[in-house]
Amino acid sequence: MAEFTMELNDEQKEVRDWLHGFAADVIRPAAAEWDEREETPWPVIQEAAKVGIYSLDFYAQQYFDSTGLGIPMAMEELFWGDAGIALSIVGTGLAAVGVLANGTEEQIGTWIPQMYGDANDVKVAAFCSSEPDAGSDVASMRTRAVYDEAKDEWVLNGTKTWATNGGIANVHVVVAVVDAELGSKGHASFIIPPNTPGLSQGQKFKKHGIRASHTAEVILDNVRVPGSCLLGGKEKLDARLARAREKAKKGGERVKNAAMATFEASRPAVGAMAVGTARAAYEVALEYAQTREQFGRPIIDNQGVAFQLADMRTSIDAARLLVWRASWMAINGRPFTAAEGSMSKLFASETAKKVTAQAIQILGGNGYTREYPVERMHRDSAIYTIFEGTSEIQRLVIARTLAGMPIR
Ligand SMILES: Cc1cc2nc3c(=O)[nH]c(=O)nc-3n(C[C@H](O)[C@H](O)[C@H](O)COP(=O)(O)OP(=O)(O)OC[C@H]3O[C@@H](n4cnc5c(N)ncnc54)[C@H](O)[C@@H]3O)c2cc1C
Repeated sequence: MAEFTMELNDEQKEVRDWLHGFAADVIRPAAAEWDEREETPWPVIQEAAKVGIYSLDFYAQQYFDSTGLGIPMAMEELFWGDAGIALSIVGTGLAAVGVLANGTEEQIGTWIPQMYGDANDVKVAAFCSSEPDAGSDVASMRTRAVYDEAKDEWVLNGTKTWATNGGIANVHVVVAVVDAELGSKGHASFIIPPNTPGLSQGQKFKKHGIRASHTAEVILDNVRVPGSCLLGGKEKLDARLARAREKAKKGGERVKNAAMATFEASRPAVGAMAVGTARAAYEVALEYAQTREQFGRPIIDNQGVAFQLADMRTSIDAARLLVWRASWMAINGRPFTAAEGSMSKLFASETAKKVTAQAIQILGGNGYTREYPVERMHRDSAIYTIFEGTSEIQRLVIARTLAGMPIR
């Protein structure tokens, strides 16, 4: 097990500085334009691919960093640049992780390269779980996948919503119900290969923030995929379903929820995104408070302003520490006995919303305009308390974990 240290090692510092340079030189200058255009910033993704930031290799390196700090550090720096563009860069990772977590070696080798494409022809991928009637309540998912044994094909029907890169992705990973009796334990994930008939984009959402990230409905109308597109394979699925049916028969037994354990490990990454946005807004506000003069002195000379900055910085540092703790626990296989992953996401996302609002206040009228970036950062920050589980769901998970109650 890696020793815990509060200091990044030399290699990590080098990566952090490299990412920060990309965020400062490429992402931040493009942020306002793509926010207004509300389109996927393909040229920026391509630039990220050219330098090696948009690739599976890069994420795998950070993911397997033995200190656990690789991913949170990368997320913080990229999202410091701009949340919408950064999500366009890391969104494919959501789908890739779905394949890495559940796929066979062959599936990983076949599909993940097609998710990223290459620097001359970049592609993106989408992870489609949420539905119009199944957001927080994942178990009420309706999209069905039915096995056609004669053809060794799966047939998928349903409507997915809120899918990042939905409809524009080269590869879609779709979660569907294979056994409706088993609730969330009767779900399985499928690869939908490029240009599969029956998959189409529904409504593209016009959003409050992270507008450079494409979010849309995905319609599945008799989508047929080969048996080999079931992540993990049929044998593994049948064995898992048999175990779940057995447990359901026994009734009342507390089953360790594997999906929840996965969320505990992935939620700190969202917390780190929120830390990045909060830090960006805080830095703008600090500089503004030091240079803007009213009543013949910089506004930071007023305790009312200075104390806000002190609170902002304290919350950001506390959020980062919670994120780093949970990430360290995840890489070291520590059990999340107090839902520490959810704690980090809850605190960091609420911090981002609060800090970006304070930044607007410190910039006064300028903060309220699109001439300064804090207005965009505040709009962007609202997503962190919604996706990957809302703040209410994080509190529910934490409370139920503390009470030793099952998480449904
Ligand atoms: C920009 C964006 C990108 C997204 N990207 C993806 C993606 O790539 N893939 C994907 O699958 N999904 C994605 N999502 C979906 C996201 O995960 C869901 O929006 C989220 O899980 C909440 O679901 P919902 O919107 O249906 O809200 P609901 O579940 O309807 O919740 C509405 C409100 O009720 C509260 N609530 C619900 N249940 C409870 C409860 N038991 N106790 C207390 N309060 C409760 C919620 O906290 C919330 O405040 C994305 C969403 C957005 C907005």
